[in-house]
Parts: sequence; C-alpha cells; structure tokens
Amino acid sequence: MAQKRDYYEVLGVGKNATDDELKKAYRRLAKKYHPDANPDNKKEAEAKFKEVNEAYEVLSDKQKRQMYDQFGFDGPQAFNGGQGGGYYSYGSGFEGFGGFSDFGDFGDLGDIFSSFFGGGSTRTRNTNGPRKGADLKVNLNITFEEAYLGVEKEISINRNEKCTTCNGTGARKGTSAVKCSVCNGTGKIKQVVTTPFGQMATQKVCSHCNGTGKVIKEPCPDCRGRGINKKSVRIKVKIPEGIDEGQTVVLKGEGEVGTNGGPNGDLYIVIHIKRHSIYSRKSEHVMCEIPITFTGATLGTEIEVPMVDGTKEKFRIPEGTQTGTRFTIRGKGFKSVNANWRGDFVFTVVVQTPKKLTQEQRRLLVELAKTMNEQPPIKKKGIFG
Ligand SMILES: [Zn+2]
Ligand SMILES: [Zn+2]
Repeated sequence: MAQKRDYYEVLGVGKNATDDELKKAYRRLAKKYHPDANPDNKKEAEAKFKEVNEAYEVLSDKQKRQMYDQFGFDGPQAFNGGQGGGYYSYGSGFEGFGGFSDFGDFGDLGDIFSSFFGGGSTRTRNTNGPRKGADLKVNLNITFEEAYLGVEKEISINRNEKCTTCNGTGARKGTSAVKCSVCNGTGKIKQVVTTPFGQMATQKVCSHCNGTGKVIKEPCPDCRGRGINKKSVRIKVKIPEGIDEGQTVVLKGEGEVGTNGGPNGDLYIVIHIKRHSIYSRKSEHVMCEIPITFTGATLGTEIEVPMVDGTKEKFRIPEGTQTGTRFTIRGKGFKSVNANWRGDFVFTVVVQTPKKLTQEQRRLLVELAKTMNEQPPIKKKGIFG
C-alpha cells in the first residue's frame, strides 16, 4: 500500500482547523470523490473517498484527533515493551473506526451519507450484527518522577463484561435463545404505509425481540437476560517513560464488551502529572533552580545537582557566575515518548546572600569590602541578628 497521507493534508486543512472547517472540507471532498459522481474513474474515486472518510473519522473525533496529533498513524505502539502486550494501535488500518469493511459493494453508502449529511447521530446499523463495545476513559494521576522513569500502575475500573454464567447468551444455563416468531429471526418487520405520495414499504425494528431476531424464554438470573454484567476489574497499565501531562495510553480491548461477537471497546487512560516542588517540565527538558553560595558564585565551585531519577551529577560552576545564569546538563531530561532521544536538564543558579554571619565571617567580609573600595556595612542590631 502506498504511504498514507497526513489526515490534515487529505482534507486540505491546517492543524488547527476547527470542527466546522473540518466538516466543510469533508463535505466538499466527499461529494467530489463520491464514486457515483465519478463513473469513469470509479476505482480511484473510491480510494480517495475512503481516504477522505478515514481522515474525517479520526479528525472529527476529539480523542482520536488528539491521539493522531500525538502519535501519528502508528498509534502509541511506539511505547511497546509493556509486558502482556497491551499497547494498542489505534492503527491497524483503522478498520475499527469507519465500518467500511463492506465498502466494496457500496451497499452502505446511503448509510454513510445519511449519517454525515443528514445531521443525524450515528449510523443506525443492523442490531443483529456485531458491534464494538464502548470505549472507556479514565484519568490517572502520577508523580513527576513516575513520568520521568515510566511506571507500571494498577487501575480499577467498572465495565460491562460478558456474563460468565450464560456465556453472554442471556439465556438460563441449559437453555438457549429461540428464533423470534414475529420477525422470523430477521429483527425487522416490513410495513406498507399509505402516504400522500402513495404506498411506501418501510422496515421497522421488531419490537418483540428488539431487533435481535432472538427471544430468550428463560433469562439467565445473573444478568437478567442481558448477557453482560457490570464488573469491577483491576488492570495493569504500563506508563512509558517520558509521558507528558494530558497524554493518553490506550489499552485496546479493555473497554466494554462488544455485542454479537463484536470486538471489545478500548480503554483510554489520560495521564495527569502532579506538580513537583523543585522540578518543572518544558517540552522534554527538566527545569529547576539550584541555589549556590555567593562565594561559590564568585570563586567558582563544584556542585552536585540532584537529577530526577535520584542520582547526582557533578557540575563545575565557573568563577564569576551571576545569579540567574542557566546551565545545561545534556541528555538528562525526559525521554521522548515517540522517539529515541532525551531532553536536557536545565538549571538556573540562584546566588544566595547570607542572612546570618558569624563574627569571623563578618570581619572577613568587611576586610574584603574595604579592598573593593566599598563602604563597610553599618551593623544594625536586630536586622543582621
Ligand atoms: Zn447471564
Ligand atoms: Zn423479532
């Protein structure tokens, strides 16, 4: 397959495009490339149309757009290394997003268009068919150090899972659901209605079986026939080193259970990082202030700078250093989540003026001051202690 084009490029919009701009661009391009509008060039139009749809599917969804901006096509698979697998791709061709798998015969085009152009909500699909479970989103607070080093956490969520008693069928053990006699298992009932324009055949969802085509005679007592149960589960999640505030880790398949054999939803874990008393973060760099003595600043000194991982780095402060001077220790910042490089550790020295002096220190300073043609300070009781 040819290399994928950037979604923003596909839609011809800027990275900061608003929802409105996206929608406009999408409508224009979807009309242009609609295969029915390109009878002489169906194959190419179909490819373009798919591309446009895929781009819009992702960019019009806030969460997916954020993921795309953050990780590109690959999804955060780049994190890999988590034992137990777990890191997902939202990649893998995006087949989960659009439901274009049966695109080839264009049977669904009407649906696709009505969903986007009709202002309706989501596509109404055959309730008999497999449906993906809902995605879940949780927030997770971690410390600055944990973000720096990476960490494995256990989180607790409530989600719908397949009922283990009935194995998701909803029918009491030993029994099974039977074909709905009202709709003959199709889940739909044909109706002929008379309208001012004549007779029209419509279909409606069978109310007897709620469109499932099956009726449960004896419901499973544990799930009351729903086939699913709300469960509290603990899930291990590996947070990759270098993760930043607001970034998301996705565990594919850890959301709500799918129905009719559809895949599970995904679990989105949004990372929040607690403020640190000393360090802050700027892009992949660690920023902080380091106090040094005024003699050290004047004469030069070697200091030990505390790194985020708990180690210390020796650093030579040159003589004559002014307060506010910034120094950099290369490669001691955050690891980039997406790429194999690290930021720097950047510290600003703050020269400390002593508040208390011993008699001896005071005498020496007064001597020093004289050599610098300075007026010796007047000792005032109560201020200098
Ligand atoms: Zn059950
Ligand atoms: Zn029915």
